[in-house]
Amino acid sequence: MIAYRSRTLVTMDGKPIDNGAFVVVGPRFVNAGRAPEVLADHAGEVVDLGEVAVMPGLINAHCHLDYTLMRGAILPGQSFSRWVKRINALKRSLTDRDYLRATQLGFQELQRNGTTTVLNIVSTPQIFPLLPLPPIRTWFFLELIDVRPRPWIEEHVFGSWMFFSENGDRLGGFGLSPHAPYTASAKMYELALECSRSMHLLITTHAAESDEEYAMFANGSGELHDFLKQLGRPMTDCGSTSPLRHLIGNKLINPDCILAHLNELDDRDFEVLSQTEWRNLSIVHCPKSHRFLHQKRFPLEALTERGLNVCLGTDSLASNDSLNLFSEMRMAQKNYPTLGARDLLEMITTRPARALKLQRELGRIAPGYLADCIAIPYQEAAHHVFEAIVQNRRPIKWMMVNGQIVR
Ligand SMILES: [Zn+2]
Repeated sequence: MIAYRSRTLVTMDGKPIDNGAFVVVGPRFVNAGRAPEVLADHAGEVVDLGEVAVMPGLINAHCHLDYTLMRGAILPGQSFSRWVKRINALKRSLTDRDYLRATQLGFQELQRNGTTTVLNIVSTPQIFPLLPLPPIRTWFFLELIDVRPRPWIEEHVFGSWMFFSENGDRLGGFGLSPHAPYTASAKMYELALECSRSMHLLITTHAAESDEEYAMFANGSGELHDFLKQLGRPMTDCGSTSPLRHLIGNKLINPDCILAHLNELDDRDFEVLSQTEWRNLSIVHCPKSHRFLHQKRFPLEALTERGLNVCLGTDSLASNDSLNLFSEMRMAQKNYPTLGARDLLEMITTRPARALKLQRELGRIAPGYLADCIAIPYQEAAHHVFEAIVQNRRPIKWMMVNGQIVR
């Protein structure tokens, strides 16, 4: 049992505390509050972290570490289809050793920038057996694509799941990611939902990301439509509805799914999202990737007004120049001035914890919660701390994951 004292403690479970302390036993916090009270009850070792603000470790709700070697390889301002084609060309030039290195470099970058949990989509599960234990809590979501039918996909899903179910000492979990409605068939989404139900797996998917995806489903036209038709995708599901209503109307997702992007929504989509059933849906906005790929504004206010659980992610280095949630918060703050600093911190702590269905385990410094936290240099009064955290530009020097100091 060790107690840690800090100048400021940001628990995300109440107001920030001047002169705070928390106690860790094994992987969990057992106490947190004002130092005089917490330490009066504590008989064990006390570590003084000094002039820092300690806060819950950051949770990146959408990332593809496979693509970490693609930083700077694609120019911004291209059409969405051209960006997809460029990624596919780059993927063909990479070996499994490159993907392994990409994933490990990605973990280092996330950790340097205060991330203690990542929702990572994997398109190269063949590297799993070679991958050392991740240094942070990681959910690996297996990417599922069947633009052209793949008869072996069930074995692929089952084999990957078996690997994770046998590696019980990993922090995090395993999930499925039917890539997007334009690359994964209805059958693929149904298979993912069935696996999710029977094996208790989380599902994440990209949806309504680009205007080209919207045009493909709503009008049966556009660059993405023509590109996929040429590849041999059956286009019979196009030309009648929006991408989101295609997923919801055909029962291809449920309210527990985590949806990345939702940039392109129409009035009827918002009507559907206003229904009680969908109000708990988790949505991941990736501010810097959005700037790289899209012109239309992400409808953040309309989604948060309806109570939807909007989180932040970095997406990959194929559309971003860093894996840094502090930069993402600053980009969101610039684009949505009504967002307060505390709202931004919720989008990378308590809200993604809710998306993972771990709102009573992750994202807060409170008794019973998993002990994931970071320290940021800080010397001022506690009431300025949220804004100071958003403005942090320094690498994180002290980090705890699962009760262990890892930095
Ligand atoms: Zn993505």
